[in-house]
Amino acid sequence: MTPPPLGLYLHIPFCRQRCDFCAFYLEIYREGRAETFVRSLLHEIGHSAHQHVTPGRPIQSVYVGGGTPTALASTQLITILAEIRTHFALASDCEITVEAHPSTISEQDLVQLRQAGVTRMSFGAESMEDGDLTRIGRPGAVHETVVAVTQARAAGFTNINLDLMYGLPGQNLESWQRTLVHCLALAPTHLSCYALTVEQDTKLASNIQRQRSPAPDESLQIEMDEAAQRILGDDGYERYEVSNYAQPGYACQHNLLYWTNGEYLGLGPSAQSYLDGTRFGNVADLAAYDTSLVASCLPIEDCTRLSEEEQLRDAVIFGLRLTRGIPSHHLHQHAANYGHAAVTALLLAQQLIEEDGVRSRLSARGRLQADTIAGQLY
Ligand code: SF4
Repeated sequence: MTPPPLGLYLHIPFCRQRCDFCAFYLEIYREGRAETFVRSLLHEIGHSAHQHVTPGRPIQSVYVGGGTPTALASTQLITILAEIRTHFALASDCEITVEAHPSTISEQDLVQLRQAGVTRMSFGAESMEDGDLTRIGRPGAVHETVVAVTQARAAGFTNINLDLMYGLPGQNLESWQRTLVHCLALAPTHLSCYALTVEQDTKLASNIQRQRSPAPDESLQIEMDEAAQRILGDDGYERYEVSNYAQPGYACQHNLLYWTNGEYLGLGPSAQSYLDGTRFGNVADLAAYDTSLVASCLPIEDCTRLSEEEQLRDAVIFGLRLTRGIPSHHLHQHAANYGHAAVTALLLAQQLIEEDGVRSRLSARGRLQADTIAGQLY
């Protein structure tokens, strides 16, 4: 029997500086730390492949995220990819994504990454208005995104994503629409549009508390979300998940694994895995991660075996985010398992979840409350 698709995620925990809104686990880049980390990651790749993956099981997607993967030198990224090929069997059509901050990548880096087999570049543009970037403490400038996309295409990349955020301090509907139109002029194959959320213990949270920055305006974010759907839809992009749009055939195969309860192995500090019905996660501490691997131990901090009911719960909660949704009987089976029949009926009556008799999905209004609905169904 053909095994289900398996993805590989690598967390590169470095950035040149922390953006005001960011709560991810990361370290500020230092050359020596990065060299030690790469050595540890190479160890982890070999150990994990041996311990977790049946030899020869094909990897359908590799996603190098962070942090800022391109905080590392492209030669280091290429060494990491070569180690992956040594220990894992990559499918012939394996999607290999590298996330990049536009100001941390050169034309030469892009050529080298393409030659190393990277198939997809994902640039963290965030906005195409310099003022927005300044107000969220995001280093870099819009023209660097334009240059990076142009150079990526010249290097041979035909699959390019831009990450955007909306509801930023000082951003209004018109400036968001300008950002979208500017992005479309770059013709990416994929766009991720994330509503700004204020995470605890971030500089943004502190700025809002001290009234130095406005809190996100939820009704404006709803208008921005609707504008994105309209503008991108008119240009041929299909919304296939709450925050993700793609030209036909360019949905991100790796991220689809998360929303379809697929299997993935996460490597690097704080990376999460889901294999054989078990979720496990690496320690979110670079020093502890390095120490563990020096001692030839995998840096796994927590591990939870999911019951069948819990696996169905996760499949329902993630799958509802997809435009194609989930089989309706899964939603109702989960409701019965968890005593959620009343809340599920209410979500359907409020038309936050819609059913067509066969499949269920979040409605357009439901997508705007995706996290709240997930909490109600957990
Ligand atoms: S570049 Fe990305 S990961 Fe790094 S601090 Fe900014 S938002 Fe966070």
